[in-house]
Amino acid sequence: MTAAPTSLEPHVMKTYGRLPIAMSHGRGCRVWDTEGREYLDGLGGIAVNTLGHAHPKLVPALQEQVGRLMHCSNYYHVPLQEALAAKLVDLSGLTNAFFCSTGLEANEAALKLARKFGHDKGIERPEIIVYERAFHGRSIATLSATGNPKVQAGFGPLVEGFVRVPLNDLAAVEEVARTNPNVVAVFLETIQGEGGINASRWDYLQSLRRLCDQQDWLLMLDEVQCGIGRTGKWFAHQWAGIVPDVMPLAKGLGSGVPIGAVVCGPKAAQIFQPGNHGTTFGGNPLSMRAGVETLRIMEDEGLLQNAARVGGMLRASLERELADVAGVVEIRGAGLMLGIELDRPCGEILTLAMQAGLLLSVTADRVIRLVPPLILSEAEAGEIVAILCPLIKNFLATSQPS
Ligand SMILES: *Cc1c(COP(=O)(O)O)cnc(C)c1O
Repeated sequence: MTAAPTSLEPHVMKTYGRLPIAMSHGRGCRVWDTEGREYLDGLGGIAVNTLGHAHPKLVPALQEQVGRLMHCSNYYHVPLQEALAAKLVDLSGLTNAFFCSTGLEANEAALKLARKFGHDKGIERPEIIVYERAFHGRSIATLSATGNPKVQAGFGPLVEGFVRVPLNDLAAVEEVARTNPNVVAVFLETIQGEGGINASRWDYLQSLRRLCDQQDWLLMLDEVQCGIGRTGKWFAHQWAGIVPDVMPLAKGLGSGVPIGAVVCGPKAAQIFQPGNHGTTFGGNPLSMRAGVETLRIMEDEGLLQNAARVGGMLRASLERELADVAGVVEIRGAGLMLGIELDRPCGEILTLAMQAGLLLSVTADRVIRLVPPLILSEAEAGEIVAILCPLIKNFLATSQPS
């Protein structure tokens, strides 16, 4: 006798703790499940669906591209790669881009760049400064750079060559500079996402920029989650008025089509030579078209301004509604990348919000994260607040602090 299947997906590996619903279709900031229930999307596929769902300008462009050419390999020139690279260079002040398909791949490219940068100047065992609570992906190298024991557990031995420091502690980095001649790069998320929406202070980033220049290190800013307009500027580090040497991107760049990029300045753009790096799917015409159209539509529709304005309004409303609520530790973030930290684990909020028709996530155990599409309207932001705040208050009133 065979046991009855214990899940809806007996043949899919159980790598995710899934909620018991399946999505059918979406439009704008709304999604419907296969039972016809409607949800307001405060998650955006984890900061991926920049333009929401079924955007009326993106869909026909991608349909046209699918009918023309999806993939052809990097044996040939791909004009759309040059178009997207030129746009990213223009928006970032950097000089060149390499394309891949995911965030971890963009970070792998950055790590390889840093190591070769070291080798090229005679450092045989290059080391990279990384951060507590960082998240950079789940490949062996990127999980080694990640500052979360849960992500690493069971996958040792970890990749060596990382030195870990706390965020926003300049003295800790200066100490490494004094004592470790093998360091070649500093690698951090401008705003940590999975780690609980923890922003680098702008003056800290400015100091890192100066230190990297003095030490001849690469400043590598993982903007996979916080980049592409989410904070109200194209890239979050632009709030600090600095320019990195290496910037991995992914998530929001293709509005749902898999895409990654690592954008480099003059100090890093010539490190890879033919044969040093590559990937089959990277830079394929479909994902490049998604990137080009996403950035174009963001400009046409003023989505940076929208992210700043609606994000500011959302944050102010959350602060007003949750002021003096015992158990709410802090509301933080920038633009449409917001976190609400509670004083206790709150994974349950995921289910409660879903039942109330709102999609969001909980990260770092006790931080409710909102990363909705950048097309979110003020009315929709108001709806998020109206659904979420009573739910948080009720959760706090009926659970124990830890
Ligand atoms: C999501 C994320 C990654 C990993 O991206 P994948 O596409 O899942 O590999 C890396 N860095 C940051 C900051 C992220 O948020």
